[in-house]
Amino acid sequence: MSEKTTVRIETKLDRWRFTCPNGHRSWEPTNHHFWCSNCANAYGADGSFEQLRDQRDGRMYAREDVRLVSEHGPYDVDHDGGTGA
Ligand SMILES: [Zn+2]
Repeated sequence: MSEKTTVRIETKLDRWRFTCPNGHRSWEPTNHHFWCSNCANAYGADGSFEQLRDQRDGRMYAREDVRLVSEHGPYDVDHDGGTGA
């Protein structure tokens, strides 16, 4: 078991700390990556990205390196054993 960084996706504090690689806070988790509406609008790209940036120290976190928590509890539920397509 590797230690994961907890990101509370609905709190402003973590919203300000963790951004997309371009520094936006308008990201949302997807099944395997992340998605940023600002990137999608600004660059005409699809807005998906693979690593969150921690603004405190510039570290990058992949989807599997973070544990996303919403107000309802863990965002990721390990019911499929990680084999879901
Ligand atoms: Zn962005």
